[in-house]
Amino acid sequence: MSTVAFVGLGIMGDPMARHLVAAGHDVVGHNRSPEKTRPLVDAGGRAAGSVAEAVDGADVVALMLPDSPDVTEVLTGQVFDVAAPGTLIVDFSTIRPDVARDLAEQAQARGLRMIDAPVSGGQAGAENAALSIMVGGAEADVADARPLLDAVGTTVVHVGPPGAGQTVKAANQLIVAGNIALLAEALVFLEAHGADLPAAVEVLGGGLAGSAVLNQKAQRMLDGDFAPGFRIDLHHKDMGIVSEAARSAGVVTPVAALVAQLVAATRAAGDGGLDHSALHRTVTRLNGDTP
Ligand code: NAP
Repeated sequence: MSTVAFVGLGIMGDPMARHLVAAGHDVVGHNRSPEKTRPLVDAGGRAAGSVAEAVDGADVVALMLPDSPDVTEVLTGQVFDVAAPGTLIVDFSTIRPDVARDLAEQAQARGLRMIDAPVSGGQAGAENAALSIMVGGAEADVADARPLLDAVGTTVVHVGPPGAGQTVKAANQLIVAGNIALLAEALVFLEAHGADLPAAVEVLGGGLAGSAVLNQKAQRMLDGDFAPGFRIDLHHKDMGIVSEAARSAGVVTPVAALVAQLVAATRAAGDGGLDHSALHRTVTRLNGDTP
């Protein structure tokens, strides 16, 4: 069993850290807002007042932070200076693939090891330890991280070298945003026709239109329940990663560009703190109605 420093105990990091405790690991959590360490401590973990305090004595440093600058600041400004040689860094955050590759190289140059392990499955997946985890890194490092990854996920796949996990995660975020946008349009369309919406959702879910997005988001859209979940602000960040990574590879992604604009419009309308299912509010506005 490992001693795990876990930095970033938000919507995803909190339940993931508690699952690591349940799997028998000694977990020392740190979060910018210190009150978020409380559930971890109640579950049998420990709280640290700083990143350095959490990392001291840890075999593994796990990160679940919002964005590339957050991960870069925590690693280069704090973890890299205090982690013991050989420490394994597992970055669960969703960040830019090029930043992940660069940080893994910097870690290696300092005698540390780093893998990128972004996740999919949402808040429910984190709470049920049922995440899908796309892992980029060296074979031996991924093998060493496996017990930790298996404690929070059910589909854990090594997809390539450092950064590869983030590339697959960017594709994941494109597919999810596109699905949500189409689901929102379909529901507004059905409503305009006076369709029986719960009946329509039930039968759509059993055919080719069925999806995890439909299962998790349709009812929320019908109820107007947009509490996060996965915030529009974070999906806006991810659509930026998709468009930048597509551009750098010379890949043309017209639907991604359109969906990125819909996500940006949702944010511009003041809905950045809502769940990404709030794309339904943007589609409602586009149709001349007030959500
Ligand atoms: P979140 O709820 O905002 O959690 C992020 C946490 O990191 C917050 O508690 C924040 O503290 C903390 N933090 C930020 N900077 C810090 C620092 N320098 N030191 C210590 N703690 C710091 O976000 P989330 O939804 O868990 O998402 C985290 C990552 O997972 C993102 O990259 C996201 O794209 C990805 N993701 C999210 C979901 C989802 O459904 N939510 C699904 C898959 C992947 P404060 O409380 O002070 O802000």
